[in-house]
Amino acid sequence: MRDASRSIFYGLPLMGVGTPEVESLRSYLLRLAAEHSMIPRELVVTVASRQAHYRPDANLNVIWRGFPVSGTSDRAERLATMLSEATGVDLVPATLARFRQVISARRLCHAQTSRYCPECVRRRVEDTHVHAPLLWELQVVNACPVHGSRLRSAAECGAPPSVRLPVNRRVSLPGVCGQCGSIGFRCTGASDLAGERDLWVADQAGKLLALSPAESTSLTREMLTAGIREVVNMRFDGQPVRAATQARLARATVLHWLEGMEAVELAALFELAHLAAADVSELFRGRYVEVGPAPDLPVSSGITRILPPRYERHDWTSVQAALFDAANDNRMPSLLSVLAPFGIDGSDARRRYPTECHTVARRHDASRRKRWQQVYDSSYAAFSAAADDLRRRGVEPTRARIQEAANLCCFGSGRSIYRSRALEDVLAGRKSRTVSQASGT
Ligand SMILES: [Zn+2]
Ligand SMILES: [Zn+2]
Repeated sequence: MRDASRSIFYGLPLMGVGTPEVESLRSYLLRLAAEHSMIPRELVVTVASRQAHYRPDANLNVIWRGFPVSGTSDRAERLATMLSEATGVDLVPATLARFRQVISARRLCHAQTSRYCPECVRRRVEDTHVHAPLLWELQVVNACPVHGSRLRSAAECGAPPSVRLPVNRRVSLPGVCGQCGSIGFRCTGASDLAGERDLWVADQAGKLLALSPAESTSLTREMLTAGIREVVNMRFDGQPVRAATQARLARATVLHWLEGMEAVELAALFELAHLAAADVSELFRGRYVEVGPAPDLPVSSGITRILPPRYERHDWTSVQAALFDAANDNRMPSLLSVLAPFGIDGSDARRRYPTECHTVARRHDASRRKRWQQVYDSSYAAFSAAADDLRRRGVEPTRARIQEAANLCCFGSGRSIYRSRALEDVLAGRKSRTVSQASGT
């Protein structure tokens, strides 16, 4: 019998637990192997051979390299459990298995190659702690939320073939090019900027992974379904088919989710969430909370925002002047509306003028929240008076009757989400203190 208080391996701490940068199991495995001067496969075999039901398995090679070790699969979970026992470190946060009760395993993780943010790996090399976040392994994520750069495949090496290492001398370490051994992937050159949509997705995915292990394992499919139902009710007139088609999903997808006939696929959920500007972690908690940058136009009207064409050269002095004016404008315009006439999007401008952009976005956000709160408060007062009146007359207050009696309709414009929430709250006999919680930036 082995002494239970001692672990086989030195318990390297798992990085970034409780933050969007929480380390992936794959990265942990690579670092652990390097720390013990082993190759990862050797380490997995050592750990697996101590298990009661071990049988020599040719697939071990597959487990550590080709398999989505950070996914929701049984094998990912088994590997995490084995490594947890071998190191005495809780590795639950390092895989997506903690969400397996809630989401489908399909199209979840990149199976073959890992990806990285060029800025992160270069910066981390200087800080001497290199780890690869779980976030980089999600298929739906294409950008680094910290640097706004596009993620790159670790399989691409920019070095000439003459300097690549022979196969038997290649290294497997997070942040190091396996083919030429360049620390921080300096072989692949400068990073490229990601688009607004990819940034939004990366930011939301990061918030989801930052949920504590306790909270993420306590989430249920019912909670997520309740959140999706709220989005469908408030943004798509309660019509799941309309929600699915506008999000460019198969027509029955959302309906099947709501009826519990199909597990929710993360990639598809992000399509819907982005369209409705819904905070994804809040959806998992069963609520619809709008998160910026939200579309100013109602999604149900079918109007698409048209940006002027991108120009090759930007007059940055005028952009800066416009940002300065906007930061002092009492109408508190949105960043997008300030930048639109110049044909640029937020990421370029944020890079050059972070402070100005932040001020404009923050003021706009605050003014929107204030407006939403007013909509909620006045609607709540009207609906609750109407409901009381109906009850006094002995009539059951239903959604339709309350809206009719208050002469307020809940659908038809973007801002009516908060009117809808007021109606739901009146029906449920509660009142939200703040209608929109400060979510992120
Ligand atoms: Zn980065
Ligand atoms: Zn390389």
